[in-house]
Amino acid sequence: MWIGLDDTDSPAGMCTTYIGAILVRRLEQAGIHVVGTRLVRLNPNVIHKTRGNAAVAIEADGDPQKAFAIAVTCVEELAEFDEPETNPGVAVASVRPPPEFYYAALRDYCTVDEAIGVLEAAGALYRGYKNRRGLIGATAAIASDFSDQTYELLAYRRRPVWGTPRVVDAASLFSAEAETYPHTWDTVDRENGVVVGVPHTPDPVLFGVRGESAAWVEKARSYIRSEEPACEQIYTTNQGTDAHLVPGVIGELREGRSYLVRGTVAETAVTGPGGHVSFTFSDCGTDLRCMAYEPTKGFRDVARALVPGDVVAAAGSYKGESLNLEKLGVARLADAVRIRPPVCLACGRRMTSAGSGKGYKCRVCSERSPDAEIEVVERRIRPGWYEVPPTARRHLARPLVRGVPAWEENVLQSCRECDPPRRHVNRMNFTKKDL
Ligand code: ATP
Repeated sequence: MWIGLDDTDSPAGMCTTYIGAILVRRLEQAGIHVVGTRLVRLNPNVIHKTRGNAAVAIEADGDPQKAFAIAVTCVEELAEFDEPETNPGVAVASVRPPPEFYYAALRDYCTVDEAIGVLEAAGALYRGYKNRRGLIGATAAIASDFSDQTYELLAYRRRPVWGTPRVVDAASLFSAEAETYPHTWDTVDRENGVVVGVPHTPDPVLFGVRGESAAWVEKARSYIRSEEPACEQIYTTNQGTDAHLVPGVIGELREGRSYLVRGTVAETAVTGPGGHVSFTFSDCGTDLRCMAYEPTKGFRDVARALVPGDVVAAAGSYKGESLNLEKLGVARLADAVRIRPPVCLACGRRMTSAGSGKGYKCRVCSERSPDAEIEVVERRIRPGWYEVPPTARRHLARPLVRGVPAWEENVLQSCRECDPPRRHVNRMNFTKKDL
């Protein structure tokens, strides 16, 4: 059977994965054998999420009625019922619902009625509390279909210390990453010198370690020194898989969905207030604004290094008419050339334009030259994939260390008839003031 849980926490505390870990232990105590545990991330753009839009599914062997009673007791005991935005859902199904509902909740938006329709069709036992919104995540979790998966080991805090500062030795987290990368990732952000795997929110999570197998996250965990945890749970998960992305076409993107889109850079990036960087890229004449927000740190330099004519694929969520970048693929770089007035051979000063179609003139010694100086600019970027740093990575985003899936590479390399010429010309005209 499959047991699904969601929407048990609030910004003030609790975590659905913690209730999942407690439930695993209670099921085992009741003689119900737990076969697997899943941490299922859903559409990251859903506004009702508390943090990372996570739901939990537990696969188990035993009596569904008994499991349902234990799950309901667990949620009623631990969920943050007093918080207005906490609307728990519990579902138990002996037959796994079809994966379509999972994909809808992962990539799109669903309603409570749709979730109930799926649960009824599967003959599931379910209970939704308050506005019952948690049934959406609980149903998606038990319907989840992982064509790719990673692992996360989560350590939880003892109840008396919830809400107090976490005691986790930062150096040990860096050692864990150093000893196990690339088989684990995102415990720390080495480039920015920041710990990633220890939350700052008042929930029961002490730390988390992400990796390619249970064995690797356990190995990384063995290096970590911290306060005594209450318990630990390893989940299989769709984190780090790009499962939220679908191929998209500029002009046809829908709000709140996540895409990989191919296009040609139309305008050089600009840095706006707060350090957020944006550039425009286009496909067959339709423009799209891409955003690299300040928390993406050095990734913004990748956006800044692009010039019009570069062919790129951009991954991210489409929100407020912008694509919020998670990853960029550069397929083809434009040949960037800088055209500027020549240097005067007589006096060595830079000439200025002598007027439209009249060549160049030296304002110091009146020498003339018909030709401009053409300089090929060395590009600060190479074809390939670039990603935001671990501190800014979304749970579902696939780290490049895991490789790029074939379908994403195909989007990047696909050719379009409307691809523009490969030369980007930056005209630099000098005036008297510049001399
Ligand atoms: P945490 O990750 O810390 O456990 P959370 O970020 O998962 O918290 P929830 O408290 O679970 O946030 O709130 C998310 C709510 O949105 C849940 O009620 C869930 O059922 C619902 N939900 C999830 N995905 C969708 C979707 N695609 N469409 C509509 N509702 C959704």
